[in-house]
Amino acid sequence: GAYLRRPIVAGNWKLNPPTRPDAIALLRLLAANFVNHRATTTDDASAPEVVIFPPLPYLSDAVRILEGSGIQIGAQNAGIHEKGAYTGEVSPSMLLSSGCSYVLLGHSERRSLFGETNERINAAVRRCLDQPAGLKVMLCVGETLEEYEDGRMEEVIDEQIRGCLDGVDATALLRDDRVVVAYEPVWAIGTGLSATPLQAQVAHVAVRNSLSRVLVGASAEDVERVRVLYGGSVSPETAYGVGSMADVDGALVGGASLNADSFARIYDGAA
Ligand code: PGA
Repeated sequence: GAYLRRPIVAGNWKLNPPTRPDAIALLRLLAANFVNHRATTTDDASAPEVVIFPPLPYLSDAVRILEGSGIQIGAQNAGIHEKGAYTGEVSPSMLLSSGCSYVLLGHSERRSLFGETNERINAAVRRCLDQPAGLKVMLCVGETLEEYEDGRMEEVIDEQIRGCLDGVDATALLRDDRVVVAYEPVWAIGTGLSATPLQAQVAHVAVRNSLSRVLVGASAEDVERVRVLYGGSVSPETAYGVGSMADVDGALVGGASLNADSFARIYDGAA
């Protein structure tokens, strides 16, 4: 990635691990790997940020165990309502006040398995940006294999970014780096088939072009500051190559983030 943007290495645990004792064990390994070994403190601007997205029932364990590690915590989704009669929902203000610094929105599994549309994701993005600056959005976009083969990658990325950021105040979004984009081609997620560095670079330029079209009123410099992460079968073996491309500012890691050593090696590749 480029020097002007601080990289991020993020771990999306998805629906794992299945029980709390396993989650606590993984959190302890993560804390041990990062505390004192790697400079992840938020004030060292040259070290990549580290964020993990555990399932919500493990949130308070994550806050307690990762305290002082420099590792930030995020939620894998958020509801679109602030409070009230919405049984089963979780609001951005609940997440922020419970220790989350990030909310992942628009993951392809939410889109394909749970029917989330750009409109719904847009409502959640806005709700998160209504919160104080301590809560940031990690917005996922990416095309399917069919769309990729049809040459529609750029078009799909643009449609998703436009839809998800519709009506958002560009100044508010860019202030305090409130939004990070994760480019995750659906064909690379959980398949073991990562995009090549060149494929990622081309897509990330498309993301940036789309951001500059959608964020009207923002300066080119401000748009340049938005971090764009790559996700999809990132492993310790592939992380360095993809991460060395000019417009790749880190990784969103699924499967390999469930192994504390693999995750630390991916971090080392990005540092
Ligand atoms: P993967 O998942 O690294 O297991 O491919 C990435 C993601 O879905 O965020």
